Amino acid sequence: MFRPVLGIIGGGQLGSLLASAAKSIDIKTVILCDDNDAPAKHFADEFIHGEYNDENTLKKFLYKSDIITYEFENIPFLTLKTLESSKKVIPKPEINRVIQNRLFEKDFVNKCNLRTTMYQHIKSKNDLEASNFFPGLLKTCTLGYDGKGQYKLNNKEDIDNFNIDYSNEYIIEKFVNLKKEISVVLTRFGHQRYEIYDPIENVHEDQILKFSYLPAIIDDQIRDKSKEWASILAEELDYIGTMCVEFFIDKNDNLYVNEIAPRVHNSGHLTLNAYNISQFENHIRAVCGLEKIKIERQYDAKMINLIGSQINEYRGKKLNENEYFYDYLKKEIKEKRKMGHLTILNKKD
Ligand code: AMP
Repeated sequence: MFRPVLGIIGGGQLGSLLASAAKSIDIKTVILCDDNDAPAKHFADEFIHGEYNDENTLKKFLYKSDIITYEFENIPFLTLKTLESSKKVIPKPEINRVIQNRLFEKDFVNKCNLRTTMYQHIKSKNDLEASNFFPGLLKTCTLGYDGKGQYKLNNKEDIDNFNIDYSNEYIIEKFVNLKKEISVVLTRFGHQRYEIYDPIENVHEDQILKFSYLPAIIDDQIRDKSKEWASILAEELDYIGTMCVEFFIDKNDNLYVNEIAPRVHNSGHLTLNAYNISQFENHIRAVCGLEKIKIERQYDAKMINLIGSQINEYRGKKLNENEYFYDYLKKEIKEKRKMGHLTILNKKD
């Protein structure tokens, strides 16, 4: 059977885990990354270093790849369109264009009649001063992640306490009193053809994911609703591959869509050990048109992100039988940088 070579844009830990999963099912990968020290270099069959808008780099990448996918969303639309003119790019570039902009993303979710937090487009200081979405979070429309480009504004007086760069566009989001945060990871193979993982409960520290728990401890109604909403979004986007929908649950048990990630997701790392088929393998299966296999959860699990120097404690440490340590092999330890993760499995309840 024909096995395509999969081109992956982005060489971070998600690219590494995708490349490893591909290898396990006999799919070769070529990674394109603008960082020559990218960790995925250690895991992929081939690695191309270059800028994402460099014509020659893209040509080389196209020549080596049969199908192209990506592991992060902040890729220039033009790059994806250029690649799409000669090879299949999955998920489609148009999906990425909507999701990489918080305003477009939230408008899209509302068009699907699903609830988001209340938000308002902010194009200037005047807009912000006229807003009544306080207490709120001001977030850049593009390029923010892990709390980067975000300001917590308790009231209008707070506006001048931050050095806000008004050359960016923002949204301000009403602050939600959170009871829990959960995510739903799913893989869509085609029209109404899904594998949906059980909702995962997520705990953030400093707006960075720290712990994930599988399954999330939530009532059945919320569990079913979150899975249904995630599949409505995937169907509306005509999405192919693995994606993740992050949700908020407030103190009154209202569910809100927070974000969509058009890619494999950090909260889904525990699928590597807790399921028969991980989110990574499923992404590759869907994108490369391979067989869809019914997923089965085999364990309950907890995942701990190892951030900055926390990785040191685990390098060389003897692990228990139910513990799985992943070192992303990043060249430099940096504060707030995700360096690796640990998954601990438990018997299913
Ligand atoms: P985001 O980058 O939008 O996913 O935000 C990162 C984290 O900040 C979320 O996972 C929440 O823990 C917190 N957060 C973001 N927006 C809100 C909000 N509107 N209300 C309460 N907490 C929020």
